[in-house]
Amino acid sequence: LIELRGVNKYYGKLHVLQDIDLTVGRGEVVVVIGPSGSGKSTLCRTMNRLETIESGSIAIDGRPLPEEGKGLAQLRAEVGMVFQSFNLFAHKSVLANVSLAQTKVRGRKKEEADKRSHELLDRVGLASQAEKLPAQLSGGQQQRVAIARALAMDPKVMLFDEPTSALDPEMINEVLEVMQQLARDGMTMVVVTHEMGFARSAANRVVFMADGRIIEDRTPDDFFTNPRSDRAKDFLSKIL
Ligand code: ATP
Ligand code: MG
Repeated sequence: LIELRGVNKYYGKLHVLQDIDLTVGRGEVVVVIGPSGSGKSTLCRTMNRLETIESGSIAIDGRPLPEEGKGLAQLRAEVGMVFQSFNLFAHKSVLANVSLAQTKVRGRKKEEADKRSHELLDRVGLASQAEKLPAQLSGGQQQRVAIARALAMDPKVMLFDEPTSALDPEMINEVLEVMQQLARDGMTMVVVTHEMGFARSAANRVVFMADGRIIEDRTPDDFFTNPRSDRAKDFLSKIL
């Protein structure tokens, strides 16, 4: 579903993505881990062209990612993104936050968008919070709104960049549970996270990055019990 071939990216002299080859199949859950600064967020952002690349190719669902224009907007709508900071519209209700892009990008009528939003809010356990403002919700609830908002575009794939790392510990699980359910429902997901429990239980593959390269790309069982590279061993010894 996602195919990156020979992707290279620089920030000035910094070679932040080096010869990245990565394929994510339909329904697959790929967890990306690695030290700070290894290029995980950059990798996520390149997957819907929030970042330009210097060489290589990226295709979503067999179609190459266009550089710009209408084709890019369409393809971007197929890729849902959830960030560490929830980026909700502060002055709009929860319902309006989930409905907005549906009317603007998907061209749905307001009633239709709101109906879908209610379904999705129900799915993330927030059916009773639709009329509140984001600030009236906890961090975990806000992040679940952000997930519902991304799902409202009917994306083919969901990208998560450290979705729980800004949350208080007691709220992490409620977000991870929504993600687990999404994975069980067959959503294709790329998840940057330090939550190794999630990686073990939900991921089909773990991709370990360091210095802009993919060092290991293996099943969670394989990776956690038997990391091959010194970089991965070192990383795991620090976080486990
Ligand atoms: P973290 O775990 O801290 O989130 P990361 O693996 O997500 O790290 P990236 O944010 O992708 O790492 O950054 C990779 C490298 O690129 C870092 O060295 C970072 O300083 C650099 N970098 C990121 N964004 C920019 C930018 N807009 N301009 C210049 N350098 C950048
Ligand atoms: Mg990052």
